[in-house]
Amino acid sequence: RLYNELIELKGNIRVFCRCRPLNENEITDGCTSVVEFDSSQDNELQVICSDSSKKQFKFDHVFRPEDNQDAVFAQTKPVVASVLDGYNVCIFAYGQTGTGKTFTMEGTPEDRGVNYRTLEELFRISEERSGIMRYGLFVSMLEVYNEKIRDLLVENAHQPVKKLEIKQAAEGTQEVPGLVEARVYSTEDVWEMLKSGSQVRSVGSTNANELSSRSHCLLRVTVKAENLINGQCTKSHLWLVDLAGSERVGKTEVEGERLKESQFINKSLSALGDVISALAAKTAHIPYRNSKLTHMLQSSLGGDCKTLMFVQISPNAADLGETLCSLNFASRVR
Ligand code: ADP
Ligand code: MG
Repeated sequence: RLYNELIELKGNIRVFCRCRPLNENEITDGCTSVVEFDSSQDNELQVICSDSSKKQFKFDHVFRPEDNQDAVFAQTKPVVASVLDGYNVCIFAYGQTGTGKTFTMEGTPEDRGVNYRTLEELFRISEERSGIMRYGLFVSMLEVYNEKIRDLLVENAHQPVKKLEIKQAAEGTQEVPGLVEARVYSTEDVWEMLKSGSQVRSVGSTNANELSSRSHCLLRVTVKAENLINGQCTKSHLWLVDLAGSERVGKTEVEGERLKESQFINKSLSALGDVISALAAKTAHIPYRNSKLTHMLQSSLGGDCKTLMFVQISPNAADLGETLCSLNFASRVR
């Protein structure tokens, strides 16, 4: 158990906050930042509200605009690596559209995020332990849009995307029958897979960015482990989730398809918040069944599973309302 003592000390649910930098347009437009950091603390921030009062928030860690992908992964690595010790793990990126959820999870080809770095780390540790453990890594990629689950790892982007359902398995775990589980042997395999999955994702939408902000994108890594000394075999899951944008829709847009989408998003994000806060409060009944997202993740949320939530925020004064909503949501799950 390489990393676990460190994690166990702190409990199984942790929340990180990441604030993106002001972008070039915002700087050109003279936008101001309403988020402040204490130079001596790496786990709190303050928001300057419209009446000039300051509100303080505390997290397990706060990443500032200048913190890069390396800094973020350094804190994330122990949590993701525990999947190799047989733990189920869920990592979420939550926040308003444009705050860096995809940047944190996927990153860019030059500046890769948690997903790719995680697989890289899992391969590295597997290699390191090859004398005592044999690991098989499998990747699945799916999307939840309007409470429908779609498999993103179909053979090519021109095939109709498969619709999937959640089934209760005999051992009381949840399964998604038919979901493609692709064996991966190297980080190159993974990179190809992530690219093809994103391609499938954007088919059928006129604006890929628009759609991606309204659906949850889930990458599941399945680890099959065999202990070469005692012959024990285990299977565990690591879920890496880029959630739909948490913003409330504008009053003028609330009709038709957009209304339906936003109701589904609100329902699943609040269901997720309810589940995590029930877990944090150690409530007897955990309401997993209120959304496809939480139902599917049931066996990887709670018990001795590890959960990490990235709350992504914008520093821009114009986003103050949404920033406070996200920070309040995060305080609820902590
Ligand atoms: P979201 O997925 O939450 O809608 P994105 O990840 O697409 O947001 O981020 C919006 C834009 O801001 C992208 O161009 C992204 O590269 C940039 N960005 C987000 N976070 C950071 C950061 N920490 N550092 C630099 N650029 C960032
Ligand atoms: Mg995104």
